[in-house]
Amino acid sequence: MTRTYDLAVVGGGILGLAHAYVAAREGLKVVLIERDGAASGASIRNFGFITVTGQERGTSWQLARRTRDIWADLAPRAAIPIEHEGLYLTARSSEAVAVIEAFLNTEMGEGCRLLDAAAFRAASGGMGGADLMGALHSPHEIRVESRFAIPRITAFLAEQMGVTVMTRTAVHEVAPPRLATSRGVVEVGQVVVCPGDDFNTLYPERIAAYGLTRCRLSMLRLGNPGVRLPGAIMSDLGLVRYRGYGALPEARALEARLRAEVPRLFDNGVHLIVAQGTDGSLIVGDSHHYADVPPPFAPASAEEDILQEYATALGGPVPPVIERWTGTYAVAADRTFLIDTPAENVRLVIVTSGTGASTGFGIAEKVLADLAGLKVGAAA
Ligand SMILES: Cc1cc2nc3c(=O)[nH]c(=O)nc-3n(C[C@H](O)[C@H](O)[C@H](O)COP(=O)(O)OP(=O)(O)OC[C@H]3O[C@@H](n4cnc5c(N)ncnc54)[C@H](O)[C@@H]3O)c2cc1C
Repeated sequence: MTRTYDLAVVGGGILGLAHAYVAAREGLKVVLIERDGAASGASIRNFGFITVTGQERGTSWQLARRTRDIWADLAPRAAIPIEHEGLYLTARSSEAVAVIEAFLNTEMGEGCRLLDAAAFRAASGGMGGADLMGALHSPHEIRVESRFAIPRITAFLAEQMGVTVMTRTAVHEVAPPRLATSRGVVEVGQVVVCPGDDFNTLYPERIAAYGLTRCRLSMLRLGNPGVRLPGAIMSDLGLVRYRGYGALPEARALEARLRAEVPRLFDNGVHLIVAQGTDGSLIVGDSHHYADVPPPFAPASAEEDILQEYATALGGPVPPVIERWTGTYAVAADRTFLIDTPAENVRLVIVTSGTGASTGFGIAEKVLADLAGLKVGAAA
């Protein structure tokens, strides 16, 4: 059977959902097509941490601010609880404090502040390692439980936004007005392809031109530590890794110090994010290993390093591990996302920096302003 839509979105992860949401909100007739029975890629495996502070200065930081606002508006309408607001990033050396102070002096520091160790411990129910010197507090972040939020947004789009959701449907070929799928032809005016880190099904040559690779991350869920965290928590390894801080000149001295102190954590690409769910359990990660085809075999040392960093930054005892999983995402050396134009009425959109939950809605507005002429986001 042939069906007709203004816009087809390929991929049911957060990027695809963001495009479907913005397009439907602006009155387009939308079909969202997902290969699996439900999206089970990076978007449900992440922390659900919608991060503003720490995003790369300029475009990514601005897209994250816009994306956070859209999440804050959408979440209550889609019955998605906001599990946390704000970020606390701990510092345990004068070099880390220097990076935070430099960050606060940029435009990105607006609304953020440096807490002393006592203030962080008071806010976090007594958490904090022995050598804690202070913490950056950012009020801008929100956090959702992705394994719940992604299916909820999908259902909200279908039930309340008039989006047709086709699951268990692989798209083989994109040639509007014809989209060839494993369930037959779909007729469409325009198409946005959001394939995540599938580089081989649609537009493999175009994707290859960007020189992408993939990153595999190890993730853990720990038991309830018995305290309610005031927000998501990161350690000072994040000051080197996240480009909003890591690109500041002050980050070089911190990186040298941390590389000397904890070299294996750099080998495993470990930095610490701790986020708490409504049941009190903690999502804790992560590690970063890069390969075109990341082996599914994650080293036990990565998990040990994550738990070691938890103990160092937050103090003991470390709650028991109750779940473990890995996830992968696309990576480029030279950009945080890409928007490619295979044809006048088609866009290929890939987040290439592990920040899709934080920038996806802003990117979708940017893409659809260009592709469909919608007056949204910066174009409004
Ligand atoms: C462990 C982990 C932690 C992370 N933490 C965070 C975080 O806290 N904050 C943050 O902002 N980002 C985080 N990220 C990054 C973020 O999750 C990704 O950037 C984002 O999920 C990418 O979304 P996506 O929709 O592009 O890809 P995906 O979620 O991978 O979805 C792509 C979908 O497209 C479908 N698909 C592909 N090709 C076809 C086809 N031909 N036909 C039909 N369907 C197709 C796939 O089946 C898949 O469901 C994390 C990532 C990981 C792995």
